[in-house]
Amino acid sequence: MSQTNLETRPNPNQDSAPSNNSLIEITESTHNIILDLRYATENNIIGRPIVNEYRCLLHPDALALLERSIELAKHQGLRLKILDAYRPGYAQESLWAYCSNPNYITPPEKGSPHTRGIAVDLTLVDASGKELDMGTEFDDLSQNSHHVNASVSQQAAANRYTLLGIMVSAGWDYYPMEWWHYQVFNAQKYPLI
Ligand SMILES: [Zn+2]
Repeated sequence: MSQTNLETRPNPNQDSAPSNNSLIEITESTHNIILDLRYATENNIIGRPIVNEYRCLLHPDALALLERSIELAKHQGLRLKILDAYRPGYAQESLWAYCSNPNYITPPEKGSPHTRGIAVDLTLVDASGKELDMGTEFDDLSQNSHHVNASVSQQAAANRYTLLGIMVSAGWDYYPMEWWHYQVFNAQKYPLI
């Protein structure tokens, strides 16, 4: 998922041009994460797989930030559960056909940060592998998924802020309408892959 207004937001900390565009695969054995790549399964809003491969791929610039996030989460006794990372253009078209609301889905012709390999959708799990309560499911395309939202419990809000703190401290930009979505700053500098 992605957002349009953020795409021109400059990174206050980093102004270098993106490095190379080759995607790197992240696995549970190479990194201290859990993978639950929902779009490669039936367990998503569409109810059928919309990507052909169960692989978690990221641009090297995004991977560098993710590795920092993994360390920060570990310091809190938590792990990251990755729900989506690189997303092929054909999958973005499936999502747009399902929900043509640019608040939640980037129009395919504009190009999602996910299709640039520089966005992740994720949540947090505790030491036992149990997901923290974030107040909504992944891809709840409603106001309930907005970061600032009085309808979720205090605990769920606190859990969202924990994820937000981990990700922003690691250098990610966030998206106010989706608690699970984070992306590299200057997303439009990165080509669609
Ligand atoms: Zn997303």
